[in-house]
Amino acid sequence: MASLTKKELQKKYEEYKAQGLALDMTRGKPGVEQLDLSLPMLDLVTSKDYKTVAGADTRNYGGLDGIPEMKEIFKDFLEVSSTDEVIVGGNSSLTLMHDTISHAVTHGFPESKKPWGEQKVKFLCPSPGYDRHFSICEHFGIEMVTVPMTSKGPDMDVVEKLVAEDKSIKGIWVVPKYSNPTGITCSKKTVKRLATMKTAAKDFRIMYDNAYTVHHLSKEQDELANILELAKEAGTENRVLIFGSFSKISFAGAGVAAMGAAKVNIDWMKGHLSMSTIGPDKLNQIRHTRFFKDMKGVEKHMKKHAKIIAPKFEAVIEILEKELGDKGIATWTNPNGGYFISLDVPKGCAKEVVRLAAEAGVKLTAAGATFPYKNDPKDENIRIAPTLPSMGEIKLATRVLAVCVQLAAAKK
Ligand code: PMP
Repeated sequence: MASLTKKELQKKYEEYKAQGLALDMTRGKPGVEQLDLSLPMLDLVTSKDYKTVAGADTRNYGGLDGIPEMKEIFKDFLEVSSTDEVIVGGNSSLTLMHDTISHAVTHGFPESKKPWGEQKVKFLCPSPGYDRHFSICEHFGIEMVTVPMTSKGPDMDVVEKLVAEDKSIKGIWVVPKYSNPTGITCSKKTVKRLATMKTAAKDFRIMYDNAYTVHHLSKEQDELANILELAKEAGTENRVLIFGSFSKISFAGAGVAAMGAAKVNIDWMKGHLSMSTIGPDKLNQIRHTRFFKDMKGVEKHMKKHAKIIAPKFEAVIEILEKELGDKGIATWTNPNGGYFISLDVPKGCAKEVVRLAAEAGVKLTAAGATFPYKNDPKDENIRIAPTLPSMGEIKLATRVLAVCVQLAAAKK
């Protein structure tokens, strides 16, 4: 599309503004149609039928690490080799991640000489990344070190060098598949390097947040190497902690979350977990196991999600392509899965684009949120979350966004 003059752009922008829009592309929430897919689950547990396959009463306490059939699904979901390597938690994987770090801060991991809270601790944060990971670090006073993301995952040359040199670097955040927000999946080589790299810290941990493992958008599905297997081969399995949940499969906020890890970490986590709960919500677990049955059931269900949300992603990409494709002022990702599109605008413009969009009634994730300390050093990255709004809203919001990008670039 031909470039508009600054005056023409301003006019178009004012026209949008006058419409009094109220559109929201801030967070990766499933849309209503997606949530509807799992509604039948609510009828699968009744006042007459609430026992596990083995006959355990899900109404009562017990089963700290989950019911057997839920652990079975998570064994495949997290790609661990046995149900002994699974802890089923509550509704949120973020809680499990937060609690893991919290326990490390107060007590340390089995190999820690002293609790993390009694020493200087740094974490590597591949960026752009997931803002809530960074918030956890900030919350516990863990210093964040930004590492660039490449098309194959975290920049492993940088990661290997840092972890080998600095023993205060105790961990790294990785969203290995369809990452938030770039949509990138770690290559086999990246996974292998993460599993085998030499770390100065003996109690180093990879917080491997596989939140989007089955969240394909297209027929072209990304493959992810099995990090725990690779780590076992290298004798480094203690460093791997895998997380996942049903938040964007069944109900966001009422799904089931789990952690997968080698037995030493499972025992460590169970010990801490038993201090904070007598057991998880097993009623919700049987709702899930009865509805999905097994991993094949999960995969089949996710095809229905893809049918609903893939067109929304396509609409965003198509509009960005049409409005900005030939202007050389922005680049964006076109992911095979996940929940986000990552948009890079000219250096120094992201905040202004988000401000302009907000003034025109289009809410976007705050600029900078995808970096540690909410500080995008180039002020160029914007995360777009297309799943929640309706198709009509998505299209309109993306058109407004495209005008804001051009306007911010023209002001530079
Ligand atoms: N990890 C990532 C990478 C996410 O994008 C999200 C949701 N936005 C979560 C974890 C949160 O998962 P949960 O609902 O299981 O806490």
